[in-house]
Amino acid sequence: MREGAIFIDTPVMVPHTVFNASGHIARFYDIGAECSNCHTKQKLESILKYNNIDLPAGDIASAQNVLDTHVVKCPVCGARITEAKEFYQMFRLPSQGSSGDLYLRPETAQGIFVNFKLLNNVNRGRIPMVTAQYGKGFRNEISPRQSLIRLREFSQGEVEVFVHPVKKYWKELEKQRKLTVLTKDGREMTGSVFYLCSSGILSSNALSYFLNKTHELLVSAGINPDQIRFRQHHDDERAHYSRDSWDAEVLLDGEWVELVGIADRDDLKNHETASGESMHVKVDEEEIIPSIIEPSYGIDRIVLAVMMHSYYTRENGYKVMRLRPEIAPYHAAILPLVNKEGIDTMAEEFFEKLRVIDPYVIFDKSGSIGRRYARQDEIGTPICITFDRDTLNDDSVTIRDRDTTKQARIKKDDLLKKSLTADFHEIIQAS
Ligand code: AMP
Repeated sequence: MREGAIFIDTPVMVPHTVFNASGHIARFYDIGAECSNCHTKQKLESILKYNNIDLPAGDIASAQNVLDTHVVKCPVCGARITEAKEFYQMFRLPSQGSSGDLYLRPETAQGIFVNFKLLNNVNRGRIPMVTAQYGKGFRNEISPRQSLIRLREFSQGEVEVFVHPVKKYWKELEKQRKLTVLTKDGREMTGSVFYLCSSGILSSNALSYFLNKTHELLVSAGINPDQIRFRQHHDDERAHYSRDSWDAEVLLDGEWVELVGIADRDDLKNHETASGESMHVKVDEEEIIPSIIEPSYGIDRIVLAVMMHSYYTRENGYKVMRLRPEIAPYHAAILPLVNKEGIDTMAEEFFEKLRVIDPYVIFDKSGSIGRRYARQDEIGTPICITFDRDTLNDDSVTIRDRDTTKQARIKKDDLLKKSLTADFHEIIQAS
């Protein structure tokens, strides 16, 4: 939003013509194998990783070559894997639309590209332009598993930045933040995005800017900055639509997992050719077809990563989810210390008032107070507001901070004047 993105919401069911133009109909498949013994189907990439084989297998011929020249074992039953197969990732719907077959979209991006003219009109013809869409993507994955990491139906937040095809400029680059990158020729280095771009490691200003922005976003969501890297795709690994791709990868349980794919793509040309509709725009008297820099955020994986990086066990064995207040399921829990003498009624009345200001609050009066604190700590509620006997006399409540477990008193009505998230640190410091 802060980049001035224009948001759009396009259909999940998309006609054949669109994916034919984008190249998905012909080329959106994964290389995998079915074990002839236990019949488990898996991505070849995972099978080779299990066998400690690091060889190019991005197309069916090179994949088959690896299987012919190496003993590759099935990770499930240990039998030899001999045959590579292409597994089509598109879901084709049984019924037809008026313009032929319909497909479930494997990415939200195409809905933006086919509406490029409309969006550019909204943007008063200006390039560069940033657009975004949040929605479901569907892929017929060979082996959907590993919790939220590989789903057949997943949530994407895709940002499409339309830029001049040669200059690829978005905005000035930051010099402070440090990023770790791993290039396709195996060089690993850490430097500011300004340095990485000016030394040619990152190919354009816009790509660099959005790598940096992605880092900022992941860190602000609660991911450990020391466990983020940007890995450039090898030439045989890139999706058909991309000319340069970088994955934002995060360490989860000791493995690097892609959370965000950042690609440099040229889809508008394909759509112009297929539809006959001009995708040219005028920039400084020059007719151009914009290139696209696309950070594609896998929301499910980001949520999982944030949870894994936020979860820890206290010395006393209790679990805590150290979420930032803005993304915690509840911003505060209202807890009456005891359910008598009107304390519970007073707490509930306060809860009803607070709920009007901030709907992300919860009231809990069941079980011991220690248990209730532990329950809130485990789901990440940053503050607990406890009503006790003294509240009846002085209108003060106890505030308990999830992270330090420190407690202090505050006038309950003061809380109604504050934002539980924006003023979070102030509330905690006051306590
Ligand atoms: P891609 O277009 O393949 O670069 O995907 C963009 C992002 O979507 C990835 O970085 C993942 O975070 C996410 N993603 C892709 N495929 C899946 C899947 N099968 N399940 C969950 N997330 C996915």
